[in-house]
Amino acid sequence: MTTTTTDPTTRQRPRQRVCILGATGSVGTSTLDVLGRHPERFEVFALTAYSRMDDLLKQCLQGRPRFAAVPTESQARTLREQIKAAGLRTEVLSGAQALCDLAAHPEVDSVMAAIVGAAGLPPCLAAAHSGKRLMLANKEALVVGGALFMNAVSAGGATLLPIDSEHSAIFQCLPEDRARWPGRIDHILLTSSGGPFRRRDPATMASITPDEACAHPNFAMGRKISVDSATMMNKALEVIEARWLFDLTPEQIRVVIHPQQIVHSMVVCRDNSVLAQLGTPDMRVPIAYGLSFPERIESGASQLDFTTLGALSFEAPDFARYPGLALAWQTLQAPMGSTAVLNAANEAAVAAFLERRIRFDQIHTVIARTLDAVLPGGDACDSLDALLALDAHARSSAEQTAKALAT
Ligand code: NAD
Ligand code: MG
Repeated sequence: MTTTTTDPTTRQRPRQRVCILGATGSVGTSTLDVLGRHPERFEVFALTAYSRMDDLLKQCLQGRPRFAAVPTESQARTLREQIKAAGLRTEVLSGAQALCDLAAHPEVDSVMAAIVGAAGLPPCLAAAHSGKRLMLANKEALVVGGALFMNAVSAGGATLLPIDSEHSAIFQCLPEDRARWPGRIDHILLTSSGGPFRRRDPATMASITPDEACAHPNFAMGRKISVDSATMMNKALEVIEARWLFDLTPEQIRVVIHPQQIVHSMVVCRDNSVLAQLGTPDMRVPIAYGLSFPERIESGASQLDFTTLGALSFEAPDFARYPGLALAWQTLQAPMGSTAVLNAANEAAVAAFLERRIRFDQIHTVIARTLDAVLPGGDACDSLDALLALDAHARSSAEQTAKALAT
C-alpha cells in the first residue's frame, strides 16, 4: 500500500518569483541577501538597474534571473554580450517601459519596488494593476501617486506590503487582516533618528558637505535618502506615506526622535495601549517580512541583546532645525497634488545639493519656493500622465530656483 503525505508543512510549495526594481541599490542588495538565504522559497526572476552596470552583471551571475533591465539599448548590448560570455540565458531589456513590463509580467508573483524617486511610480502602478505582492520601499512613488496609487492597488487586487522600516513596524503592530484596522488606532508615532545633524550648531548648517550629509548614524543607504534623513524630509515623506498606507488623517500621524533606532515605530490604540516593534536597525527585517508575510523567515539580522542595549531615549522633533518636516502635514491639507510638488522639489533640490550647486540649508529654500510657485490644478491627480506632468513642472520650477540661488 502506498501512502501520500497530507501534512501542509511538508508539501512542496511553488517558489515565489521575484522582480527587484532597483536591484543594485541599498534595499535591492539587501533583498538579494534575504532571497539568497531561502532558495527553496524564492526565485530571482528579474533585476533592474539604472547605473552601476558591473554590479548588475555580478548580481545576474549570482541570481541567474530570467530578465534584466537597464536604461539604454547600448547598455543592454554590452550586458547581453557579457551575459552570453558567461553562459547565462538572462534576457536583457532596455528603457523605462521594460520596468513596467517586468513588474506586470504574468510569471512574476512579487515585486520589490526599490527604485529611488518618482521614477518608480509607473512600474509600481503596473505591479498594482496586475495584482502582485507589491513590496514598497520606494516611498516617493506613493507620495506622488497618493489616491491613484491606492486605487490601483485595490482595483488590481494587489497586496501592498510596506518595506520602509517605520511603516513595516506599524504594519507588524496591526492585525494581519486589514478589515480589522478601522477604529483601532488613536494615532501612530513614526520614530526618527534625527539624522547626523541632530546636535549640530544651526549656524554651521550652510557649510555641510554632501559626504557629511550622507554619513547616517545607523544605516548605510543611498545618497538621496541619506540627505533626506539629514534634512528630515525623509520623515516628511514617511508621514505622507503613512497617510496612504494606513488610511489615517494627518492629525493621526506624529513623529518622535529616537536616536538609537531600536523602536521602529509605534501604534497608540484607542484605549491608549501602545504597541511597538523593536529590532536591530537592519533593513533585512522589514524586507524578510514583506517577502514572507504572513509568515516569518530568517532575515540575517542580528538579535537585540537587552542586557547590553542601554537606555532608549525619545524627544520631540525640533521644527526650527528641520523646517521641511512641517511641510508633510501642510501639503496633506493643501489641494491634492501638493505632495507630488513637494516630492519633485525635494528630488531636484537634493540633486542640486549633491552636485554642489546649492548649499545644504538652501534645500529647504528651493522646496518652499517651489510650493509657492506651483499650484496643482483640480485634475492634477486624475491620471499617471497628469501626475507626471505636475512632477515635471515642479522639477523645472525647482531647477530655476536652484540656478538663481547658485548665481
Ligand atoms: P539607492 O540609491 O541605493 O538605489 C536606488 C536603485 O534604483 C538603484 O538600483 C538605481 O540603479 C535605481 N534607480 C535610480 N534611479 C532610477 C531611475 N530613474 N529609473 C530606474 N531605476 C533607478 O537607494 P536606496 O537607499 O536603496 O533606496 C531605494 C528606495 O527605498 C528609496 O525610495 C528610499 O527612500 C527607500 N528606502 C530605503 C531605505 C534604505 O535603508 N536604503 C530604507 C527605507 C526606505
Ligand atoms: Mg524609513
